[in-house]
Amino acid sequence: MTSPQHDPRWGFETVAIHAGNEPDPTTGAVVPPIYATSTYKQDGVGGLRNGYEYSRSANPTRTALEECLAAIEGGTRGFAFASGLAAEDTLMRSICAPGDHVVFPDDAYGGTFRLFSKVLSHWGIEMTPTAVTDPDAIRAAVRPGVTKVVWLETPTNPLLNVADIALVAQIAHENGALLVVDNTFASPYLQRPLDLGADVVVHSTTKYMGGHSDVVGGALIVRDAGLAEKIAFHQNAIGAVAGPFDSWLVLRGIKTLGVRMDRHSDNAEKVVEFLQRHTSVSGVLYPGLDGHPGHETAAKQMKRYGGIVSFRVAGGEQQALDVCNRARVFTLGESLGGVESLIEHPGRMTHASVAGTPLEVPADLIRLSVGIETVDDLLADLEHALG
Ligand SMILES: *Cc1c(COP(=O)(O)O)cnc(C)c1O
Repeated sequence: MTSPQHDPRWGFETVAIHAGNEPDPTTGAVVPPIYATSTYKQDGVGGLRNGYEYSRSANPTRTALEECLAAIEGGTRGFAFASGLAAEDTLMRSICAPGDHVVFPDDAYGGTFRLFSKVLSHWGIEMTPTAVTDPDAIRAAVRPGVTKVVWLETPTNPLLNVADIALVAQIAHENGALLVVDNTFASPYLQRPLDLGADVVVHSTTKYMGGHSDVVGGALIVRDAGLAEKIAFHQNAIGAVAGPFDSWLVLRGIKTLGVRMDRHSDNAEKVVEFLQRHTSVSGVLYPGLDGHPGHETAAKQMKRYGGIVSFRVAGGEQQALDVCNRARVFTLGESLGGVESLIEHPGRMTHASVAGTPLEVPADLIRLSVGIETVDDLLADLEHALG
């Protein structure tokens, strides 16, 4: 297993294209091959070539991705998993034990909430849903010595709330807890949590990292060597690893992450302007807006504001459903972060499972994942869908 080959002076795009992407030593192939193999020939008993023994433990295509992930997040080790939730579950089993407590966002991604509330709870891990945009609420929720993790998502899904990563890192560390940041929405091109004091970055690589809606994957990135050892042990012991083809797709996606995030942000800004002027729209949620409650914090810790835009319609739930059904260029579907624009009704779709909980979302809310199509076509589609 080779070490990341990249120059610390390189810019983001250069690192994204080259880290982990060493030309193949045998053929010179510029793109790392998909090593579809479960096992490796040993040169005599125990004579492993570059440490490769069995593909649950390590596979060269996955190694290439893991080196790239570490480099683009400014970490020392990256780990690739079969999904974002597999990454989260492995992380929690690596760093928590029964009796431990977690401070958790009160508007977390629904699947993460389900993992904590319906699965990890049975294994003795308790969580307190907290308004993580409010430092005093976090201070009140933290139990020194018992709270092992403060978990953040920023911006959040679908309400686009923003938490101050540097400030929350300080609160977590003062109380002996680790700060975990789910960086799926921003991606490392727009926001680098480890630089701001986070201990672990989590990704659903299904979203912007893969970027083409053709793969499900997850990742963990850390700086601390002890934490890396724990995660490496559990990644192999639990086995929810990314396969070689999935790893290759994510690695390919990351090469264009920078240009995609810039175009997602350009298009989202124009969509926001359009929605703000539309008489059927009662509110637009986007961290790039001056009036957004998290704008100042977002401006401090993000390069731009990304491709997710949520808005509310004056005509209530029925109008929200009608808009979703009438859109044509925006495809009605769950997920986000691909090159194609998606539209969804969180209350009935992605967030249906949190109805009746503190994570419930307004019924008149629509979430857009603004893609990188020609922006005029996106605006015309929204004009038509809004009626
Ligand atoms: C999609 C998503 C996840 C879960 O990832 P999967 O790849 O679907 O398992 C976690 N966090 C956020 C913010 C997400 O959007």
